[in-house]
Amino acid sequence: MTDTIAIDVQPVGTSRLANTDFSNLPFGKVFADHMFLADYRDGEWKNFRIVPYGKIPISPATPALHYGQSIFEGMKGFAGVNGDVLLFRPLDNLRRLNISAERMCMPLLPEDIFMEALTALVNLDRQWVPQVAGGSLYIRPFMFSADEYIGIRPSQDFTFMIINCPVGPYYSTPVRVKIETHYTRAVAGGTGFAKAGGNYGGAIYPAKLAQDKGYHQLIWTDGKNHEYIEESGTMNVMFVVDEVLVTPALSDSILAGITRDSVLALARHWGMKVEERKISVAELVNALEQGRVQEAFGAGTAATIAPIELIGHQGKDYPLPPVGERKFSNKVYNELDLIKRGHTADPFHWVVKI
Ligand SMILES: *Cc1c(COP(=O)(O)O)cnc(C)c1O
Repeated sequence: MTDTIAIDVQPVGTSRLANTDFSNLPFGKVFADHMFLADYRDGEWKNFRIVPYGKIPISPATPALHYGQSIFEGMKGFAGVNGDVLLFRPLDNLRRLNISAERMCMPLLPEDIFMEALTALVNLDRQWVPQVAGGSLYIRPFMFSADEYIGIRPSQDFTFMIINCPVGPYYSTPVRVKIETHYTRAVAGGTGFAKAGGNYGGAIYPAKLAQDKGYHQLIWTDGKNHEYIEESGTMNVMFVVDEVLVTPALSDSILAGITRDSVLALARHWGMKVEERKISVAELVNALEQGRVQEAFGAGTAATIAPIELIGHQGKDYPLPPVGERKFSNKVYNELDLIKRGHTADPFHWVVKI
């Protein structure tokens, strides 16, 4: 961090803390007192401000509403000792935000603005970081086009914001997933590697069809021939087959998850064999039929590890071994939780203390 940005702070008159039940925090529905905003005007970021969380006026002609010129991030902060707040790999979220921004013709956000905004906001809402076991502050930075213009072109004006949600423990009930072989989330040359709004709106319908059939989520396959495994819902997907950790290699149709990267780093650190490569549906189904898939899970910020209990493919369901028997996913889940909360050594310097 080089300069210091001037942030105008307008604190709430009355905090909502006293009326918030920290023992009941449904994900994404409870918001901390304040939010951060910045405007991109005339080629630069300005008007840095923290204001009470609430509705924002936007023009009905905002391109974000019409054409999906919007990108977002998701990260977490944890209550450390002595009132510290521990952020997990925030600069990796910034790096990814800027990768998304480039793909969507949006301005890059400099590191000093991002980190100072995060620090000031989290400082002000420190008491919103849950102290309850398993709790965390879910942090949602996002950027959208703010031109007033009905037309498709690179925008000139943008808004960057951060809002925060205190969240309780995420009970990862094992999920039933269906390998999707008709609908597509992302294609080569598309925007799948960006955390861009439109990628998600289009994924709701196929997921709903699967939910109507008793599955929780989809495993997406490539958009060309639906031949290769890509992701699970909004998480990266990983398997342990014959004691080897296998996950699809990154591509422009797969989001480069920070949880994915962290899981791979720990597995390698522990000397486990790791393969990032193409995994065909045929290979996976074959391994499932032969009972060689020891573990399957989604990896993402919200759940960290979401164990998969069953995989459906073309009308046939393949159950997986009981979650209690899964050595690697249980171990990596626990280790990541300890690192994020500052309860154990952080060999990769992932945690940033505020
Ligand atoms: C956010 C996201 C992930 C997980 O990324 P994390 O950085 O681990 O939270 C995976 N896939 C998709 C499509 C995502 O949007």
